[in-house]
Amino acid sequence: MNPAEIIDDTVVTMHYKLTLDDGSVADSSFGNDPLVYLQGHHNIVPGLERQMLGKKAGDKFIAQVPPEEGYGQYDPGAEQTVPKTAFPPNQPPQPGMQFQTRARNGEVMPVWIKSVTDDQVVITANHPMAGQRLNFEIEIVSIRKPTKDELSHGHVHGPGGHHH
Ligand code: ZN
Repeated sequence: MNPAEIIDDTVVTMHYKLTLDDGSVADSSFGNDPLVYLQGHHNIVPGLERQMLGKKAGDKFIAQVPPEEGYGQYDPGAEQTVPKTAFPPNQPPQPGMQFQTRARNGEVMPVWIKSVTDDQVVITANHPMAGQRLNFEIEIVSIRKPTKDELSHGHVHGPGGHHH
């Protein structure tokens, strides 16, 4: 039997529309495949995951997520200028591109390209939506129990999930 409501360790299928405070739509699954994720395993931003708890299939609601529970506050110090020659010639840097880098402490962290000039590239550790309040329009499609593998991997397999 499917769980009656969303608790940790349930697989949730949902549609979502993400709108920023300036009214622009950053992302939407409506009209496309729904998002499928495993609740309680940090598959989605913390502020949204928290507000999903207790919701049922068929529920529609708005979830507002402040930056500190979303993609973080914007940190103007988290920028660095590097020479364009630091990038492989077969992969020219483009604004918005995301890649992994290794911090001084050895930790792997995501960074984004902010801007590109003729010979220099500005990279930033700020997520493109850092500092933004996230306004999610949510529609819960269905809820089910995860398989043993999904639970041990911490993510969903099959349609809408990982394939491996
Ligand atoms: Zn897996």
